[in-house]
Amino acid sequence: MRIGILGGGQLGALLAEQALRLGAAVQVVDPQVDCPAAAVAPVLAAPFDAPETTRALEWCDAVTYEFEGVPLDVCQRLETRVPLFPGTAALEVVRDRFVEKRFLRAQGIPTAEFRPVSSPHELDSALDALGFPAVLKTRADGYDGKGQWLLSSRDDVPDALRQLGSRPAILEAFVPFDRELSLIGVCDADGELRTWAPTENAHVGGILRVSRSPARGLGASQLDTGRRWLGRICDTTDYRGVIAVELFEVQGRWLVNEIACRVHNSGHWTLDGAETSQFENHVRAVLGLPLGDTASRGSSAMVNLIGAVPSEAAVSAVSDARVYLYGKTPRPRRKLGHINLLRGDDEARDRSLRTLIDALGDREMSRAHASIARFDELSADAAGPASAGPDCEHPSPTI
Ligand code: AMP
Repeated sequence: MRIGILGGGQLGALLAEQALRLGAAVQVVDPQVDCPAAAVAPVLAAPFDAPETTRALEWCDAVTYEFEGVPLDVCQRLETRVPLFPGTAALEVVRDRFVEKRFLRAQGIPTAEFRPVSSPHELDSALDALGFPAVLKTRADGYDGKGQWLLSSRDDVPDALRQLGSRPAILEAFVPFDRELSLIGVCDADGELRTWAPTENAHVGGILRVSRSPARGLGASQLDTGRRWLGRICDTTDYRGVIAVELFEVQGRWLVNEIACRVHNSGHWTLDGAETSQFENHVRAVLGLPLGDTASRGSSAMVNLIGAVPSEAAVSAVSDARVYLYGKTPRPRRKLGHINLLRGDDEARDRSLRTLIDALGDREMSRAHASIARFDELSADAAGPASAGPDCEHPSPTI
């Protein structure tokens, strides 16, 4: 069997690796000849919309992609020639934050309040309706906190508008979340949905820094609700492959922040911490193979390596830390790799995570970890969870 992958970043590389392990042939396409996937699989260095891209992919058994920024028209064209999963019905929804939020609401899935914004006048009215603080986001192409501005007062508006330029946007009410979570599932060719244990995520500057799975203190009814939402999204879009929803938890209630129709950074722990990783199951689903077991092997944590790669000495502060490096040139705010930890229970996992983060000495990672630890302490005190607040986990106004 042959799988085509649009995009050769770290997600494309990890997908390619799993596909090769399953015995499939792989064809990656990426504009960059030296993309991370080039270390593991053949890469056609070409723009996504080039005729040679279609020629290279149309004789694959199925094609997938590693990010939602892949051009929709390219996918629509490809879909007429070769099975493409997840299909463009899902891609059309998730690539535009306004369409996505409207879709979620139509499915009865709660989100933050939002308004479309296509002019300064519309922003004014939206701010009148939603109040401050609020978050202005580009409708498309925003990721890792890019294309987002926290508006704390009217004073923040001119600068945000200047940076936004003429791009269409959405204004969201700021959610004073207690913590952020994600729920990742996979849908096979027959529509069967399996989910991994939920993950707790801490961001700084809009970038994921630390994840833990299973997330602590979740009730069965919350989980059921999350699974039902995933099922509804998959049914409506005739979904096949891995899907993730990012959630805000506010006093035990969940709001969906966004949907990712691809493998997700907060699911990297599954490479070591689940019977079958999100990457393997995505490839299985896309190629029409039976899904693997999504059960956890223990308690997992993952830290992202952003901007710099730590020394071996720092990593060796804990035993069995699994380091994944993507072979990218270091740059500020760039994801260069991640580290997975797997332990027998949550307490052992949390102890090792703290030791590792202290040894790595990364300020932003420590900040993210502090917000997770604060949630634990307050939950343990049974005083109700703390509000993370804008300065703790929210992207700074300039992201
Ligand atoms: P996004 O690109 O939408 O995933 O946003 C990146 C991060 O910004 C999220 O993970 C949150 O930490 C924060 N964020 C985004 N939207 C909101 C919101 N409406 N209220 C509070 N925080 C938000």
